[in-house]
Amino acid sequence: MIVGAGFGGLQVVRKLEGAEVDIVVVDQRNHHLFQPLLYQVATASLTPSEIAWPIRAMVRDRSEVSTVLGTVVGVDTEASVVRLSDDGTIPYDTLVIATGARHAYFGHDAWEAFAPGLKTVEDATRIRGHILLAFEKAERESDPSRRAALLTFVIIGAGPTGVELAGTIADLARDTLPPEFRSIDTHMTRVLLIEAGANVLPGFPGDLSDYARRALEKLGVEVALGQAVTDVTAGGVTFGDRRIETETIIWAAGVRASPAAVWLDVAADQNGRILVQPDLTVPGHPEIFAIGDTIAITAPDGSPVPGIAPAAKQGGRYVARVIRARLTRKPIPAPFRYHHDGSLAQIGKRRAVIDFGWIKLRGALAWWLWGIAHIYYLVGVRARLSVALNWLWIHFRNQRSARLITHNPKRLGDEI
Ligand SMILES: Cc1cc2nc3c(=O)[nH]c(=O)nc-3n(C[C@H](O)[C@H](O)[C@H](O)COP(=O)(O)OP(=O)(O)OC[C@H]3O[C@@H](n4cnc5c(N)ncnc54)[C@H](O)[C@@H]3O)c2cc1C
Repeated sequence: MIVGAGFGGLQVVRKLEGAEVDIVVVDQRNHHLFQPLLYQVATASLTPSEIAWPIRAMVRDRSEVSTVLGTVVGVDTEASVVRLSDDGTIPYDTLVIATGARHAYFGHDAWEAFAPGLKTVEDATRIRGHILLAFEKAERESDPSRRAALLTFVIIGAGPTGVELAGTIADLARDTLPPEFRSIDTHMTRVLLIEAGANVLPGFPGDLSDYARRALEKLGVEVALGQAVTDVTAGGVTFGDRRIETETIIWAAGVRASPAAVWLDVAADQNGRILVQPDLTVPGHPEIFAIGDTIAITAPDGSPVPGIAPAAKQGGRYVARVIRARLTRKPIPAPFRYHHDGSLAQIGKRRAVIDFGWIKLRGALAWWLWGIAHIYYLVGVRARLSVALNWLWIHFRNQRSARLITHNPKRLGDEI
């Protein structure tokens, strides 16, 4: 049984093709989501169906794989069953936990209501509605300070997601929207990126981080570094000694593992991630593996394995190899070793930074490579063609086709 059809879980399914196993995939959603491009849905560049695919469709040709739509709420390791939120249970022989992570607000859970994070398709379409509605309301607002607050967008956290969101909102305001609004000049939009650390893209080499900051500033993004946010309310955000009035705050600052460690009653780190064994099994349970964002493990050089898609996929591949070895009574592979292939981030619609270790790239060439790499990892020809066409359209014509307000966001939408 594989719980979670994200990057890690699906990799186990793929790599067990042809093995003598029956596989049950359990997920609380009916789709696999390509999270690295979720911010493009939130900023009206792509539609959800370009970056998410029904799990059933993805395994349709694998008759040994069945799919269950259900939310796991516990694991009974004595009885070898997982418990679902509807009180159902499903038995397993071997269990792979790949349930990922969710937002974390560092003990300030009340902030979530005012500063939503980006994790699901619903989060993305809600944020998209929120951003677009802010421009609509600003167009009709006569009070200058209210209008300024509507045209101020604050992103908390300058990792790749924060940088990508900030750059794309700036592009939207500067390039896509200006010809369509009559009362407001959308060039007046303020995009503010707040980061508690000393630089944007902290995981990147210093020169690429500096380049990213300068590129953001060229797009008109205000970057506030070394300033932790101390308060988030319905109308604004406080950081350092400043308070900014804004109607839109997006949280891109922290994640916490799924509660899998609680289900299994095993040790976890401060972010709730299971401290797995070197073969990715859960301590005391050789029949249970855990992979991806829900575990804490170190790379060969002693650094923590990052919570990114390649790490989850590599974990999935490794677990499939261990399962195959057990089935065929072959020697168990050597302990899991994470290999870091590189880090990529887009800055607005024409620039990116890439760190492959052996080579570092930035600017327009990096953007093209970033685009090709992401298109390659999408699922299916239709999504690849559609995303490529959309990006070329945005790149050359500044038009974004997914500008739909489909949610009634909690605060901004109340008056619609
Ligand atoms: C906005 C955003 C941008 C990102 N950008 C990048 C990037 O550019 N590059 C990169 O490499 N990584 C990026 N990441 C991180 C990357 O997406 C994760 O590291 C990766 O998805 C982890 O894979 P996983 O299999 O552990 O979990 P996930 O891919 O998150 O999959 C977890 C699955 O488990 C399911 N699930 C969770 N709880 C339950 C439950 N209780 N019951 C049943 N099912 C459950 C979920 O529905 C989901 O399908 C980004 C993440 C986010 C949120």
